[in-house]
Amino acid sequence: MPFKSLKIIEPILKAVSEEGYTIPTQIQKEAIPLILKGQDVLGCAQTGTGKTAAFAIPILQALYEETSNTPKRKIRSLILTPTRELAIQIADSFAAYGRYCGLKHCVVFGGVNQNPQTAALQAGVDILIATPGRLLDLINQKFIQLADVKIFVLDEADRMLDMGFVNDIKKLLAILPKKKQSLFFSATMPPEITKLANSFLNNPSKVAVTPVSSTVDIIKQELYFVDKINKNSLLLDLLKNRDIKTCLVFTRTKHGADKVVRMLRSNGIKAEAIHGNKTQKARQQALTNFKAQYTRVLVATDIAARGIDVDDLEFVINYEIPNISETYVHRIGRTGRAGAKGTAISFCDEHEIEFIMDIEKLIAKKIPVIEGHPFPLKAYYPNEKAASTIAKPVAQGNRRPPNRWKHNRTKKQAVVS
Ligand code: AMP
Repeated sequence: MPFKSLKIIEPILKAVSEEGYTIPTQIQKEAIPLILKGQDVLGCAQTGTGKTAAFAIPILQALYEETSNTPKRKIRSLILTPTRELAIQIADSFAAYGRYCGLKHCVVFGGVNQNPQTAALQAGVDILIATPGRLLDLINQKFIQLADVKIFVLDEADRMLDMGFVNDIKKLLAILPKKKQSLFFSATMPPEITKLANSFLNNPSKVAVTPVSSTVDIIKQELYFVDKINKNSLLLDLLKNRDIKTCLVFTRTKHGADKVVRMLRSNGIKAEAIHGNKTQKARQQALTNFKAQYTRVLVATDIAARGIDVDDLEFVINYEIPNISETYVHRIGRTGRAGAKGTAISFCDEHEIEFIMDIEKLIAKKIPVIEGHPFPLKAYYPNEKAASTIAKPVAQGNRRPPNRWKHNRTKKQAVVS
């Protein structure tokens, strides 16, 4: 089914084709016609499914087709998203798909000087992409009026709640005009998200694509049991012995991310960290270097990585296992984007086994364990010494999982190249 059959107008079709898209993704097929009809939409979809284009394309089309006779452009669509990285990524999408529409968009987020943002706003914009804090701040300073908003998007609603934006969202909902089209996207739909959606969506059409528990199917997953003190050695070993051009490594803390970066650099590997303590400029630069493959390893914390969209990212490494299972799915969703190849490697120490069990419950599958690697977890393999060189794959018969680990697991040999 080509984009044309979704009744998309010529200027957008041309831009989309220049982006190299030939067929719409599932969420685009389902959501675009509904949004073009003016309906409210409740979309259960995470990044990587093509959801940005699913709302950006019909918004551009609706605003393009609406004749506006005011001398100055007014904000007719507001997209609210939790992080600066996501905001920038969404703005890039509007720029790409809307390049022949003649509409203006602007992106506002905190942590940077507001003057360039207010200058752009004062020149007049049709579409505003914003994070909640800076948006409210600029509304209070009277740089932003939302009285003309016709289409409102709440993106990554579950993440917004995780990040404590619920009150900001409620304040904004009170400011926005009552009569508008609302689009609500969330990767997961726990009860508090459904409640929030019901509080402002008007008889929404529901679109659910690749729910969080099934997106992982296209990504190859590997689990390494390893002692915490050997995680650095294992990481270096993988970078040395596997064909990993670039990879995104996740740590739980900012401090942990910096430590891994220092360790990699001291071993001659180009690495950079991306986390909340870095300035916006440093984060963007780190991302640019990584995309250009100048940096081989980007080490990120979860919140900073939320908006990372790198085409052709094949490897994600969970240096530490997240204690929230859905975070695992978000992390590994950075790879295998839009149907591309992806591998997610997880380093699990003794104290993280519980987290893996929760993750496996959520994704409803067992993550294949890599056997015979050089740094086996002592509690799992008590008779084994961590090797400094690549060990030969060992027979699987003498493996004993710890008592807490009672699953029948799929076993694989270490990939040694
Ligand atoms: P998103 O879920 O919006 O973060 O998009 C994930 C990735 O898919 C982005 O890199 C988009 O450029 C890409 N993408 C979106 N729609 C399509 C499409 N119809 N065909 C190919 N790639 C797409």
